Amino acid sequence: MAPQFASDNNAGICPEAWRALEAANKGHASGYGADDWTRAAGDEIRAVFETDCVVHFVFNGTAANSLALASICRSTDAIVCHAMAHINVDECGAPGFMSGGATLLTVDPPDAKLTPDAVTGAAVTPHDEHSSRPRALSLTQATELGTIYTPAEIAALCDAAHARRMRVQMDGARFANAVASLGCAPADISWRAGVDVLCLGGTKNGLPGCEAILFFDRELADEFARRRKQAGQLASKMRFLAAPWLGVMEGGAWLKHAAHANSMARRLAGALEAFPQARLLAPVQANGVFVDLPKVAIDALYAKGWHFYPFVGETGVRLMCAWDTPTAAVDRFVADLAAALAMPGRNTAA
Ligand SMILES: *Cc1c(COP(=O)(O)O)cnc(C)c1O
Repeated sequence: MAPQFASDNNAGICPEAWRALEAANKGHASGYGADDWTRAAGDEIRAVFETDCVVHFVFNGTAANSLALASICRSTDAIVCHAMAHINVDECGAPGFMSGGATLLTVDPPDAKLTPDAVTGAAVTPHDEHSSRPRALSLTQATELGTIYTPAEIAALCDAAHARRMRVQMDGARFANAVASLGCAPADISWRAGVDVLCLGGTKNGLPGCEAILFFDRELADEFARRRKQAGQLASKMRFLAAPWLGVMEGGAWLKHAAHANSMARRLAGALEAFPQARLLAPVQANGVFVDLPKVAIDALYAKGWHFYPFVGETGVRLMCAWDTPTAAVDRFVADLAAALAMPGRNTAA
């Protein structure tokens, strides 16, 4: 299939990850993470993040988020998150399931971004023992609407959470895109700002399928390790999850690929500004463009073979760019949209 804008997980494996996989495919290695590749990948991640965190790997983001949250929360606890959070709308209740009953307290400020006031307002137990106790704050960086928290915004959110004795978990499925966009150190938007656990995404940035969980609060890691096993997420052939991380982190390919995806989103957004019928739904700060389009134009693009999803209502579509999105694909998409919008008598029918 040609490059699409449906999701950054539609892209293949980047060359750096592929080469590292091949290099790891030699001889025998101990199972369950007791191998040189897993050790080296953990060391490289600690070096990149400039701190001595505990690093674990799982197969996907739902497991990373829900098991990290389950390591923080008891069954009687609650997790504060944005209403658009992946853990709220796209994980089939996994945080509650994995924790044995933790609930989500959602709030809905603009641009899919939480604010300290919203967190403080949500982190309450209005009915004493009848209410779950807020124990975790979950932040998504970059957010589900392709926006980004600055280091100061994250620090303020972490302060608000810690003041209520809550821990902070970050869904970093697109953390690399946020780092590339801000041009900051990875530490600046994670532990240095107060994040306790980071679920660092690899799958959407050119890995075969793996997320790393970084425990800056090392005390949470032991509980996580057992929950990972219980949940069927402990890979026995761990070296093949770990090696691609080494491939993309050594030499900085993870940020190069994220920066490319971001630049394709900016190119796309820039072109869309020329169409009065296209209305951006959020600032384009990472690798996603969220834009409201006339229904007829959406249908015309589908008819031309483009894949993408409605995300906000029926006509607010999500266009995701990946590490390998070619400029030519962006330009062809824009040309097809221009043709669809120019069809006489059609662009008023939305
Ligand atoms: C894709 C994504 C995940 C991970 O989802 P899985 O399909 O479980 O790997 C987590 N959070 C966000 C915001 C995502 O977009």
